[in-house]
Amino acid sequence: MDYLAGLNPQQRAAVENTQGPAMIVAGAGSGKTRVITYRVAHLIEKGVDAFNILVLTFTNKASKDMRERIMKVVGSEAKNIWMGTFHSVFAKILRVEAEKIGYPSNFTIYDTDDSKSLIRTILREMQLDDKLYNANFVYNRISSAKNNLVSHTEYMQNPEIQAEDVSNKRPLIGVIYETYTKRCFKAGAMDFDDLLFKTNVLLKTHPDVLNKYQQKFKYLMVDEYQDTNFSQYTIVKKLAAAYQNICVVGDDAQSIYAFRGANIQNILNFERDYPDLQVYKLEQNYRSTQNIVEVANSIIANNKNQLEKNVFSDNEAGDRIKVQRAFTDNEEGKMVAEAIVQERSTKGYTYHDFAILYRTNAQSRAMEEALRKLNIPYKIYGGLSFYQRKEVKDLIAYFRLTFNPADEEAIKRVINYPRRGLGDTTVEKIMVAADQHNITMWQVICNAQQYIPGRTANQLNDFAVMIQSFAVEAKKLDAYETALYIAQHSGILKELHADQSEEGRGRHENIQELLNGIKEFGEREDIEDRSLAVFMQDIALLTNDDKADDKNADTVSLMTIHSSKGLEFKNVFVVGLEENLFPSQMSLNSRSDLEEERRLFYVAVTRAEKKLTLTYSTSRYRWGTLTNCEPSRFIDEINARFLEIEVVKPSKSSLGDNSFDNERRSWTQQRDSFSKPKPASGGTGTVSAPAQRPKTTAMLPKAHVPTPGFTPDAANAFQNGMDVEHEKFGFGKIISLEGTLPDVKATVFFQGLGNKQLLLKFAKLRIV
Ligand code: ATP
Ligand code: MG
Repeated sequence: MDYLAGLNPQQRAAVENTQGPAMIVAGAGSGKTRVITYRVAHLIEKGVDAFNILVLTFTNKASKDMRERIMKVVGSEAKNIWMGTFHSVFAKILRVEAEKIGYPSNFTIYDTDDSKSLIRTILREMQLDDKLYNANFVYNRISSAKNNLVSHTEYMQNPEIQAEDVSNKRPLIGVIYETYTKRCFKAGAMDFDDLLFKTNVLLKTHPDVLNKYQQKFKYLMVDEYQDTNFSQYTIVKKLAAAYQNICVVGDDAQSIYAFRGANIQNILNFERDYPDLQVYKLEQNYRSTQNIVEVANSIIANNKNQLEKNVFSDNEAGDRIKVQRAFTDNEEGKMVAEAIVQERSTKGYTYHDFAILYRTNAQSRAMEEALRKLNIPYKIYGGLSFYQRKEVKDLIAYFRLTFNPADEEAIKRVINYPRRGLGDTTVEKIMVAADQHNITMWQVICNAQQYIPGRTANQLNDFAVMIQSFAVEAKKLDAYETALYIAQHSGILKELHADQSEEGRGRHENIQELLNGIKEFGEREDIEDRSLAVFMQDIALLTNDDKADDKNADTVSLMTIHSSKGLEFKNVFVVGLEENLFPSQMSLNSRSDLEEERRLFYVAVTRAEKKLTLTYSTSRYRWGTLTNCEPSRFIDEINARFLEIEVVKPSKSSLGDNSFDNERRSWTQQRDSFSKPKPASGGTGTVSAPAQRPKTTAMLPKAHVPTPGFTPDAANAFQNGMDVEHEKFGFGKIISLEGTLPDVKATVFFQGLGNKQLLLKFAKLRIV
């Protein structure tokens, strides 16, 4: 029982009281996930059968980590716990039950690409303008309907939804939704949202099935509950209804998936659904230093909508939060990479102790480049999954067809790859025939002479025979042999082998890697059915992170903040803290979007255990053009007492040949200089921020630019000969000042523009 010793009294109470509904809503790093982990271990120790426990986590990786921890306490019994993401757990259940709702048990899971491709096909068929009916937009609309359990019939009958679509000038989304649903059904395919939607349908329409799983899952636990959507909430509620042994943990301050339909309301609903709910409070953060915890608290305090929470840390105060400015995104990468080398060599960290977090995937490029230059090993999490690469998807499409030839997206993908003279026109003809006769594309292909008589019928016949032969081989051969057979006989291996370019070789290697993975799978001893069909089942649900994690690999972790949820690292760099990037441009239109963005910042900051560094760049390539950037308002919102501002002398390359730039200092340092004596010169050095925020515009609530501009109070800070920056005119030098406060006028020389006269109270000049 000594595992209980690693818990504080509140955590322990939550672990030991296993009966009845329980909820823990507590701040980051307070041990919520630890409570779930120990609770499961405790249940098993108390004699509960692991098969009767269901744990739902947010990522596959989280469930893998949790299972390993539980294994340390209870041994191999932990293997029997039902544990995984909502999608993976319910895909598994649907495999068993699908036929009850009219699907084959070997249904295909359409990933987002498949879904959007199908939507595009439908838009073409309906001859709709794909700019207006943008596939992403339609996909999101359908997705959000499903996550709110609105079927296509309900969608079309709901006057509010219809009115919304009409006012969006897209009245036909309901019809597209209907066609999309029917086409998926015909293809024996479910998309991601269907895995939850259809589970709801199943549990609603089949009380016997519901009862079976209620009896099976006597204990339910959900981590990251704040990010569940209505569809997930309903499944959990149904399953828990018989025994009510349901424990959910979450943090409303870390709700970051509202854009995908997650609903904080689920936390409040929970209290309403279970009146005799036990609520536990966890207030101590064990993860981070006091400074980091205080910074996190000060960030989230800017949000109006949040549940009241106390979070404190008994850990050391720790370093202040470092803020670093770069002049370009490449320089930002370099700065971070150099800091990693430095910290690692002076403090004895491993690469594993570092994470770089960013708002958007595109930011990884500059980081990767800088890390490569310094030979720092890294791994990108959550990026394009291995299974999403084109060549891998192509081969997998053949596998999919082997087991479910009705799969239309797979047919469209490979019917003419490698080329066999079955181009777009043929595909169109097949689709039209399938539609006319209300049969699948596959049935058309198998009876091509009848439906599309002519020259291509023979080729279609060859294609059908090939796929059928794969199915025959799959029955005889093991997973690896089947996969290899298909790779060879489909012509894919030959096609890739012929391409001797570097990319071509890379693609060939990826296919080899896929085959190796299948070989490994075929050798696993912990599962009974090791056929290719089983390997294939939930491949669409796998992400990059799930590919065999090499525990021994010592790498820096790179990921978006969204993917970092629940994780922790000794050193964290949050990069790209710039207006319009973080907070993102899209979030600036409403308070609720901005608050979600701030919660995202809170998540980022609370991943750090020992040291947190925030970086931003004053310029960055975005969508192909170099844009000037302003530091994020989020930096400004942090109490300056916790900040340490490093002043980095820009490298020559980032400055071009603008000689005015050479002595630039960070704006934050400049801000401090209003209340403190100036440091002697530029270059690298460290300036601690003052305890009180100096009074400049940068301190004002952010309706306006976060760059400290000119205020009448600070007018005396400007002097002749000073280098300044103007929003529109760029960098310049003050030639003369005249007039008295508050009407001081400056003559400023701007390179390429000549002298300009500016009234300081209006011109947003800043000293550089
Ligand atoms: P998040 O909100 O980020 O998901 P969390 O509340 O789930 O955080 P955990 O990840 O469970 O927090 O715990 C944070 C860290 O604190 C982990 O390293 C965990 O092992 C440690 N920890 C939690 N509780 C204790 C405790 N009572 N004693 C020592 N360490 C603890
Ligand atoms: Mg957690």
